[in-house]
Amino acid sequence: MLQFDLTNLSGARLGERLSFSLDEGPQQFDDIRVAFLRGWVRFTRVERGILIEASLNTQIEVECVRCLDPIPQPVKLEVEETIGLAGRPRPGIPYRLTEEGWFDVSPLFREQVWVALPMKPLCRPDCRGICLECGANLNWEACSCQKSDLDPRLAALADFLKKD
Ligand SMILES: [Zn+2]
Ligand SMILES: [Zn+2]
Repeated sequence: MLQFDLTNLSGARLGERLSFSLDEGPQQFDDIRVAFLRGWVRFTRVERGILIEASLNTQIEVECVRCLDPIPQPVKLEVEETIGLAGRPRPGIPYRLTEEGWFDVSPLFREQVWVALPMKPLCRPDCRGICLECGANLNWEACSCQKSDLDPRLAALADFLKKD
């Protein structure tokens, strides 16, 4: 949880700002854990509430789609979103200050991390994946089920050569 006290800003004139530079260790955003959070966050009082802008570098661990090994994935968060003031729900503004005037950035940052995640991460471009028969990680070990790894075209050729 990463919360900011925006009580004073809520009552401030339009255009008033609060800026923070962040250099945080591991953070848990609901189900997503990021290794660190570095960059800046700025809050500006605007007509519809408070504008949050942020530019942050972080890193999350994802799984290689082929071999399931963990991969540290750098993620750049660029945030620009309007937050509603406390007790004043507005259509089209999903995020709002708490009654006490605090804002927890976790749900917003979590959403941004999701958007930035690669669809099919690979630990390396030529990852050999996992053997479907014995479960061996073929990047690190050869297994004895190698026939099933043959390219079907090569397998056909191998059969053809055997017949000779
Ligand atoms: Zn892999
Ligand atoms: Zn195998």
